[in-house]
Amino acid sequence: MKNNHNKERIELAAAFRWAARLNMHESIANHFSLVVSDDGSQFLVNPNGRHFSQIKASELLLLDSNDNTTMSSKNAPDPTAWAIHSAIHRNNAQAKCVLHVHSKYATILACLENSVMPPIDQNTMRFYNRVSIDVGYDGMGLANEAERLSAKLGSNKILLLGNHGVVVTAPSVAQAFDDLYYFERACETLIGAYQTGKKLRVASHEVAEKTAQQWESYGSFANHHFNELMAILDKEEPDYKC
Ligand SMILES: [Zn+2]
Ligand SMILES: [Zn+2]
Repeated sequence: MKNNHNKERIELAAAFRWAARLNMHESIANHFSLVVSDDGSQFLVNPNGRHFSQIKASELLLLDSNDNTTMSSKNAPDPTAWAIHSAIHRNNAQAKCVLHVHSKYATILACLENSVMPPIDQNTMRFYNRVSIDVGYDGMGLANEAERLSAKLGSNKILLLGNHGVVVTAPSVAQAFDDLYYFERACETLIGAYQTGKKLRVASHEVAEKTAQQWESYGSFANHHFNELMAILDKEEPDYKC
């Protein structure tokens, strides 16, 4: 299995290493996955119990969302990873890469009664009207929870999990990581703005929508961002590629 999907394995491993550097991981929990088959059924995911900062390309699990013996196998993934990620990959074709974390500021937003992100700066405007919000939290994400969440995502790329965390989806690891990075930044700015207790300067619908569309036509920004991150890892912790 080691040389299977090598490029995808290296990219996903890089995403784990950077998420750890940004302190977006939570102990040994949370999961990233990446589809590697044309029909969307086979995907890579982190092995159960491994710290994000230690993950190597070769140790990522290759799972098949149609294989119902997965959870009884020796290298079974975390049960919530299996439930949520296989459901999203099965039901949402555009979600090739799925990043799920309980990062600090996204989770704070998920804990507010109103989790809608008002457009107050360029980063919050990037996500204007583009985030699905699940308000049906009902315990750790097992089968029922997973089907509800994957339906809730709909055609959006980001699902804020009320009382839980966030799921970011995209056609590539680079795009998903860039979206996760900016989403967490946007949440940090918003939470900081709320903490001032001052009134927010909320942009108009027209300006927020225009800015969101400008982000969407920003070309290869996400790829450049991710290539830079991989270049730093190549120098500083090249074992992620092993
Ligand atoms: Zn979670
Ligand atoms: Zn997950």
